Amino acid sequence: MRLEVPEAASDIVRRLEERGFETWAVGGAVRDALLSGSRADWDLATAARPEVVRKLFRPSYPIGIQFGTIGVRGSDGYVYEVTTFRRDLETDGRHAVVEYADTLDEDLGRRDFTINAIAYHPLRHELHDPYDGRGDLDRRILRCVGDPTLRFSEDYLRVLRGLRFAGRYELEIEDATWDALKAAVSNLPQLSGERVREELLKVLAGPAPSRSLELYRNSGALHRVFGEVAGLEDTEWRITLEAIDRIPAEETGLRLALLFRPAGFEIEAMMARTRFSNAEVRGVVNLADALDQPLPQPGDEVSARRWLRDVTPALASYTLLLHMVLLEAMGAGAKERKRLAEQAKVIETVRERGDPVTLGDLAIDGNDLKEMGMLPGPEIGRALEACLTAVIEDPSLNEQAVLLAYVSGMRDEE
Ligand code: ATP
Ligand code: MG
Repeated sequence: MRLEVPEAASDIVRRLEERGFETWAVGGAVRDALLSGSRADWDLATAARPEVVRKLFRPSYPIGIQFGTIGVRGSDGYVYEVTTFRRDLETDGRHAVVEYADTLDEDLGRRDFTINAIAYHPLRHELHDPYDGRGDLDRRILRCVGDPTLRFSEDYLRVLRGLRFAGRYELEIEDATWDALKAAVSNLPQLSGERVREELLKVLAGPAPSRSLELYRNSGALHRVFGEVAGLEDTEWRITLEAIDRIPAEETGLRLALLFRPAGFEIEAMMARTRFSNAEVRGVVNLADALDQPLPQPGDEVSARRWLRDVTPALASYTLLLHMVLLEAMGAGAKERKRLAEQAKVIETVRERGDPVTLGDLAIDGNDLKEMGMLPGPEIGRALEACLTAVIEDPSLNEQAVLLAYVSGMRDEE
């Protein structure tokens, strides 16, 4: 068995072993290499204590010093995580008290799933796989290390991690693991919002989130962590998942918006509870609102400008992409797609021509109105909005003299 471990990682292992500290590659990189996926972040587990690792390697950085993790810069410039063997002393489902351990086997024994508990020795090219994680990978099975009920109760995040791995690698969840997982979902609300958020974002960054999200729903986990979107009717849920898969993986924010949009006015509370940033909340809310704006009629430039004003030019392309994937997910035919293409075209036409659609596009601004004698305050805002409405109907009005005259006319009427 020979896996492609970066030379720089092997060098770190060699250096530690020369000093008498057993060191192995572990975790996600070993799993992915066995699945023929390659990745850069090879994590190392070692018998050396963190102080020793820090002394032996310069530069090195304490990454999770309380967890015994030191970042070591390899000769390739990449920072490898070197973690001292550990065992759990005490767990409560949310946190663990750990202590350093002397053997690799103790360290592997505290890992969550068999596929994540495989160690590889980059110098001897040897697998150490006491739980037959490799066999489970071959059979495409997700299985806990040890007693699943116990393992989930030690850390309920493993429930969500399991759903992610099963979906990501198309694994069947082994019966006892699945039963224990379902029994554990009711404890998910004990997890910190941050951990739940981070897990969901990892799901959404994967190639086809639908499989994991479907498992979130079938296991009852969705109901416990994002209950606001758990009640969708089957067809709507299926369309949502299909649409999410059709968005490129790097556009996690768009996928998030598709998933959370059905929560409607509860989006903000749901996202605040799971510790999303204000910017992320605003992003989802704005996209959800933008999707609710009716698209223009084909060829209708006035309604295209109104649409651009309402969704904002910055979100226009994203919103059109969301409309497109939703249409595809609904299995729309050629006719509906053609109509959407025509709607996109009229939007593109007014955009390319630079038609005015925001206050900033107007030929006048607040200062012009102050010079006209208007007092700073809501009156100026209202006047500018009225100008924008007028130029959206007829862009030829967007000239300073015309708009100033328009505003004076409005004031005379009041
Ligand atoms: P990926 O990075 O692709 O999400 P990974 O397997 O590398 O997957 P990490 O969260 O980086 O996952 O963790 C590295 C390893 O640490 C895992 O493979 C697993 O062995 C162990 N591990 C991580 N989190 C837990 C946990 N909550 N319970 C038990 N073991 C864990
Ligand atoms: Mg990892």
